[in-house]
Amino acid sequence: MTTRMEGLDTLLAAPHDGTFGEMTPPIYQSSLFGFASYAEFEDRMAGRSDRPLYSRVQNPTVSAFEQMIARLEATEAAVGFASGMAAVAATLFALVKPGDRIACITHVYPDSYRLMERMLRPWGIEITYHPPEQFERESDLLAGARLAYLESPNSMMMEVMDLQVVAGHARRHGALTVFDNSWATPALLNPVALGIDLVIHSASKYISGHSDTVAGVVAGPAELIGRLRDLTLPLLGAKLAPFEAWLLLRGLRTLETRMRQHGGTADLFVDRLATRPEVTRVRSPGADAAPGLRGRSGLLSVELSENISIPHFADALRLFRLGVSWGGFESLAVPAAITLKQAGEQNAPQRFGVPPRLVRLSLGLESAEDLWKDFVQALEVAKN
Ligand SMILES: *Cc1c(COP(=O)(O)O)cnc(C)c1O
Repeated sequence: MTTRMEGLDTLLAAPHDGTFGEMTPPIYQSSLFGFASYAEFEDRMAGRSDRPLYSRVQNPTVSAFEQMIARLEATEAAVGFASGMAAVAATLFALVKPGDRIACITHVYPDSYRLMERMLRPWGIEITYHPPEQFERESDLLAGARLAYLESPNSMMMEVMDLQVVAGHARRHGALTVFDNSWATPALLNPVALGIDLVIHSASKYISGHSDTVAGVVAGPAELIGRLRDLTLPLLGAKLAPFEAWLLLRGLRTLETRMRQHGGTADLFVDRLATRPEVTRVRSPGADAAPGLRGRSGLLSVELSENISIPHFADALRLFRLGVSWGGFESLAVPAAITLKQAGEQNAPQRFGVPPRLVRLSLGLESAEDLWKDFVQALEVAKN
């Protein structure tokens, strides 16, 4: 395993140092790359060189992003995809086959849940769902499982797990561990250092940070990433585009700085939320919540008391916008009551136990004091 020697800020600020001394990499907006000779072409096709060939499988701007992610996650390799879901799908389709079982975290990202239920299960893959404490406590839960699919904190509920313990159980049973690290980013958590095999990011969230692109990436050992490069990257074809990779490299420059700001605002909210009688529960894991977790991100959930009208609260928010996704500069709120009413999903086990009075907040880069004022005035308006 490779370890990261330099501080994250230093790594993110390192200039590209290209041919002309350019500080940022060029966008190689070319679908294909030509060869100067028969021998050079033959070497590439025989796998003796790794020159770019065709942008569905390899592009220099995309490679620069992939190498940066591999370094940030302190692992050997990474591969970019057109979206976080393309990254999830490409990982699962490359690693599981009919008859296999996936042990999946409850309250997994809803589209990851739909991928499992609507595509993988009909193809003969078994999926079982378990809360974090079951993954930790039952050392034989992963016996016979091909893969554990994990999030910590998980979507909406923000439940955390001890990754080192779960990765240890998985290793003993020969199960792979796949971890969605979109919430924490490498700024707050390095799952590979805790024994996780593959790390997935929806790069649309904090890695981009600017709400201007949809992208995904998977990082891990060269052997496993090689399987994705060999199978699902070229054959499903959901590649990352050079311009998107360039936007992500640009976003990454400020990742640590942005995460410090998001985390500081979340700390302020957590302190003050504790003083508000209208807030019955705060779900915002911080540095002490799970081994290896170094702080809060800006994504947290609160539960509001019965005397608050959630529709009125949502409509009274001024700085917080209503909308899905998260991780950008703008603050967002998502009432769980709305997502629980999503068409056809009322009975999905994925939804069980999500409190209807839960509201997820993505704290953006606005002034923390302004955001807090907005939150409090909306509570006052919504009191009945
Ligand atoms: C958004 C998200 C995804 C999916 O990513 P896209 O880039 O939207 O395809 C996966 N996992 C988590 C935790 C997410 O929040």
